[in-house]
Amino acid sequence: MKRKAIYPGSFDPPTNGHLDLIERGSKIFDELIVAILRNPEKDPLFSVSERRQMLESMTGSFDNVSVDTFHGLTVDYALRVEAQAILRGIRAISDYEYELQMALMNRKLQPGLETVFMMPAARYSYLSSRLVREVAQLGGPVDCLVPDLVVQKLREKMDVANRFGDAVARAPESEARVVDRAAKERKTKSRKKKS
Ligand code: ADP
Repeated sequence: MKRKAIYPGSFDPPTNGHLDLIERGSKIFDELIVAILRNPEKDPLFSVSERRQMLESMTGSFDNVSVDTFHGLTVDYALRVEAQAILRGIRAISDYEYELQMALMNRKLQPGLETVFMMPAARYSYLSSRLVREVAQLGGPVDCLVPDLVVQKLREKMDVANRFGDAVARAPESEARVVDRAAKERKTKSRKKKS
């Protein structure tokens, strides 16, 4: 049987740490799906399609890696794509508690699904998407933290933010906004019907 895993996350934006983990994962699994969570609760910097494009170019050289998006429970998605494992990264002790909770909850929801933790190269152990966003937003260099194409995309975002304000630069078609807008439209319609 083929060993298939999903690597779920926000990837906002994808970093060299993510790439390091993808490379390691691609060596131990026959197939690895990088799965971007479409989370309406979050207000991302990059839209899901922007993140997908970046991840697809970053992983193009791996034959057994593909990129997908999902919403809802990670275990349901894993089941749908017939994966046997969830790959997650552990950088420092600070990741451990949250990752342990999530892995145990996922095991409760789907006992047959294993969570596999991998550690990145030490030089990426301090690296997070949040840190990259913050450094980029304050005009700092992110060259060694993310692939070149992500540096470029971040620059474009910051240019737009500087010209038109941060709200416009943020993911233009983020699911959060689409869902929000749809909910507001439904409310308005139902109010109109009642009146
Ligand atoms: P999430 O919102 O699910 O934490 P992230 O994109 O921040 O999404 O992270 C996805 C996964 O990648 C998580 O398991 C996280 O621990 C891991 N990860 C993030 N950055 C790194 C890194 N620098 N090195 C190794 N793993 C990482």
